[in-house]
Amino acid sequence: MSLTKERKGFFGRLSERIGDALFMRQKIDEDMMDEIEEILITSDIGMDTTEKIMNELREYIKDNMITLPKNIKKGLTDIIIRLIDKGDRNKLSDKTPLVIMMIGINGGGKTTTIAKLGHKLKEEGKTVMFAAADTFRAAAGEQLAIWGDRIGVNTVMHQEGADPSAVIFDAIQSAKAKGIDVLICDTAGRLQTKKNLMTELEKMNKVVSREYPEADRETLLVLDATNGKNAISQAKEFNEVAELTGVVITKLDGTAKGGIAITIADEFDMPIKYLGVGEGMEDLEEFNAEEFAGGIFN
Ligand code: GDP
Repeated sequence: MSLTKERKGFFGRLSERIGDALFMRQKIDEDMMDEIEEILITSDIGMDTTEKIMNELREYIKDNMITLPKNIKKGLTDIIIRLIDKGDRNKLSDKTPLVIMMIGINGGGKTTTIAKLGHKLKEEGKTVMFAAADTFRAAAGEQLAIWGDRIGVNTVMHQEGADPSAVIFDAIQSAKAKGIDVLICDTAGRLQTKKNLMTELEKMNKVVSREYPEADRETLLVLDATNGKNAISQAKEFNEVAELTGVVITKLDGTAKGGIAITIADEFDMPIKYLGVGEGMEDLEEFNAEEFAGGIFN
């Protein structure tokens, strides 16, 4: 568990990698600007977003007549906050009933995130149910049910290979009968068969619309921060097949980078909702733009 590392924020992680030497220089020159650009790119921030940040930074330096490198940091932090802060969209809907579709490729931390989120919502006093609609991966349902047992959440599951929409259908009936506040649905993460995934998601969404029109909806994409730039191409592909309402970035404890959060928020105008910062039940943090950018506020 490493909440402290996450709390260090983006700049905390940056200085872990590069030290504060850069900002302690005597003057701002092109070499320094090149170096900042390189650091942003090697922190997994995409080229377009990096270029945008650098342009805004040059303007900030000019407008504020900044001459000392140490005074750049605040400008850079503010620019990053502006890119990642999506206001209320960064928060999970607190309307009930709520159906959350969780999507993402296998191994990214989807099951663990569902468990952590279920636990968090329970702690907030909400009733939660899981739907094991990843019927494709062997043992995905059992794995989810084990987590469910641990945190006291029921899991609706069918046998392997069953129709995911049928699982969703049953889960909705059960959730309605029990007056459940939040139904979290695990789905299969098969990006290699994009068309199938899209059809499957559409089918599941139709079932929710038909059977549970009163429910509010979220579709969250789970992305592994340690996948770096690959996670960005995943976001692009999933964004094309699903109407995402937000992203959860996992394994931020396992990387000193984390720039994918900035790229995703900027390039796809996508709100980050939660950050995974460890393997334990408590290791899920609500996204906070200022904390994420971090460094100057603490
Ligand atoms: P899924 O295949 O997407 O459902 O992935 P899992 O939830 O099974 O997670 C895959 C692995 O990543 C497991 O070993 C998890 O414990 C681990 N994991 C998930 N989230 C995090 C996180 O935020 N930090 C760390 N360090 N490990 C995580």
